[in-house]
Amino acid sequence: MLNDPELLLASLNDAQCRAVAAPLGRQLVLAGAGSGKTRVLVHRIAFLIQIEKASPHSLLAVTFTNKAAAEMRHRIEQLLGQNPAGMWVGTFHGLAHRLLRAHWQEAGLSQNFQILDSDDQQRLVKRVIRDLGLDEQRWPARQAQWFINGQKDEGLRPQHIQASGDLFLATMRSIYEAYEAACARTGVIDFSELLLRALDLWRDHPSLLEHYRRRFRHILVDEFQDTNAVQYAWLQHLAKGGDSLMVVGDDDQSIYGWRGAKIENIQQFSSDFPDCELIRLEQNYRSTAGILKAANALIANNQGRLGKELWTEDGDGEPIALYAAFNEHDEARYVVESIESALRKGLARREIAILYRSNAQSRVLEEALLREKIPYRIYGGQRFFERAEIKNAVAYLRLLDGRDNDAALERIINLPPRGIGEKTVETLRELAREHNLSLWSALHQAVGNKLVNGRAASALNAFVQLVDELALKVESLSLHLMTQMVIEQTGLITYHKEEKGEKGQARVENLEELVSAARAFEHEESEEDLTPLQAFLGHASLEAGDTQAGPEEDCIQMMTLHSAKGLEFPMVFLVGLEEGLFPHKMSLEEPGRLEEERRLAYVGVTRAMQHLVISYAETRRLYGSETYNKVSRFVREIPPALMQEVRLSGSVSRPTALGNTSRNASLFANAEVPDTGFNLGQAVRHALFGEGVILNFEGSGAHARVQVKFENEGSKWLMLAYAKLEAL
Ligand code: ATP
Ligand code: MG
Repeated sequence: MLNDPELLLASLNDAQCRAVAAPLGRQLVLAGAGSGKTRVLVHRIAFLIQIEKASPHSLLAVTFTNKAAAEMRHRIEQLLGQNPAGMWVGTFHGLAHRLLRAHWQEAGLSQNFQILDSDDQQRLVKRVIRDLGLDEQRWPARQAQWFINGQKDEGLRPQHIQASGDLFLATMRSIYEAYEAACARTGVIDFSELLLRALDLWRDHPSLLEHYRRRFRHILVDEFQDTNAVQYAWLQHLAKGGDSLMVVGDDDQSIYGWRGAKIENIQQFSSDFPDCELIRLEQNYRSTAGILKAANALIANNQGRLGKELWTEDGDGEPIALYAAFNEHDEARYVVESIESALRKGLARREIAILYRSNAQSRVLEEALLREKIPYRIYGGQRFFERAEIKNAVAYLRLLDGRDNDAALERIINLPPRGIGEKTVETLRELAREHNLSLWSALHQAVGNKLVNGRAASALNAFVQLVDELALKVESLSLHLMTQMVIEQTGLITYHKEEKGEKGQARVENLEELVSAARAFEHEESEEDLTPLQAFLGHASLEAGDTQAGPEEDCIQMMTLHSAKGLEFPMVFLVGLEEGLFPHKMSLEEPGRLEEERRLAYVGVTRAMQHLVISYAETRRLYGSETYNKVSRFVREIPPALMQEVRLSGSVSRPTALGNTSRNASLFANAEVPDTGFNLGQAVRHALFGEGVILNFEGSGAHARVQVKFENEGSKWLMLAYAKLEAL
């Protein structure tokens, strides 16, 4: 037990102590990566409970991801020696969900409201556009979805949009309006709506706000730089009049501008809470000096920073390794070899992370890891709960929880196929639209009033019976038995078992994994106002699928840079550092977005504690097309003296002319394409494409493919057996 403040503060530096032991009031801790912001927050919580004698019940802590929330809980428990029961720790979305469940009536929601994920949202928007009779080519669902979410993130409803003669705005507004009506009718709410509705709750129900203000006397927020307008307003309402409020953040790590996050909230905070104390932390405890210098040099290229310089007592450590790969396969091979060597030297798998800019990059890396039988785990990304087969099973669970969920019903009404055709579903949709009903009610009407033919009616009846009977059967079952029964009795398991090939097998395994996820979830702390099924469904929508395996499992950690925020690893691979990929090509035209990409790179570099490895590929096949890329400007912004270029043979050298691609041909000149008589770097002639140089290969002998960079035709992959290359 830490009743002694000395003990609690013993492992902190002066500035950190000042923050942790600050008198009740408001503090803004503004500091760079790895300076102990999260550590301060956790110690502050312990301080409030142990020294200030605050009840855990009066504490609310907000973090950015579920993973971070779990980590925070764990750390507090360790510090206090007990579970801080009654304290609310979660993400903004998670907390909003919890509030809305408890106050669904005040929020104007149906009791069984469900969360619409981004896929389902797009589908619903598409349907709305069709129902409005708009041309789907001209008004793509994606664009409208983007517009709607953007408005919601700013706190704007359709009535706030002044279209005044602007056709685009007027159309978007009518889609937004119709979409809201469809959500209300079918009892679903999207991610942005969760937040906005929670804010409405404060605005429209002062007594409720008062109740929570009295309860949450102490509020703590991590990663404050990434709050958006609605989150900030929600927080501001709640914190007014409370005993203490501490927000911690780093303007250099703001990476959600594209989702409406506002760095200006940091400045806004000081003016909204003028009595707030600003505390800066400058010592970094995470990374070697070399890594830190690289991060500082990189971020110095951004304008308008609040400005801070990090230092460490640590030595330079080993240089940052830089690898120029021919293509993504070569990059993956290098990463896996380096991992194997690090494991041999004693690093644990969970201490190694591979970070990438976009999810699509993970596949090639996964394949390379699988080949070497190295266990890995992907956080976020192709989320477990976003896989089609999982969404289908969850849709059944959702339907059991609330039949009016149209999105869920549409998903599985004919899955596994049961003879309910698209025409029948269209009839239901029309009926629903005409009478403002959910599809489930429309279905009953259609059958009752004989609006569909006999065959369709009996198929629909069978479906209703299946769902209703299932609901009765699972009523008293535990969550995982319920899930098990659903995947078996709906025929989903059999359906996928009958699918040919490995895909079907993988889907069956995933469904079984869902049962394990449900079982694991049963052991988690329950939230008082939710049934286990509701909590699980909320989790399925909000969570990045982290229930797949326990954190104790020893795997390589893979994730996008966005999901790596706040984490740290002894060894980090930053892959795909290429112009066009990272910085992403969409950001190249706008200085603001380019700076956000640079902050993302800063987040990436500062995740590394001891070893940082950066790689890029000169050609990359991504999203089905091959691109030829230059090394990322972010690599060029790191002083060359801090890096060491790795060559295939294992030798190393300082990078000189980065981005000069011709060096690679000579670099690899001695490597052979096995059993073919060709070498890398060799000049060749092709009957059609002319002269070129062999850059890369896959396979050997009769199966070898080579990549040739032709003088006039760009680079191409060719089967050696057919290409009839002539050696020059
Ligand atoms: P980020 O900006 O990436 O979220 P952060 O500022 O939240 O970083 P923490 O994760 O809290 O930083 O701390 C970084 C690392 O430094 C952690 O491993 C933490 O335990 C360690 N650390 C922080 N302060 C101290 C200290 N005073 N003494 C020893 N270790 C410390
Ligand atoms: Mg942190």
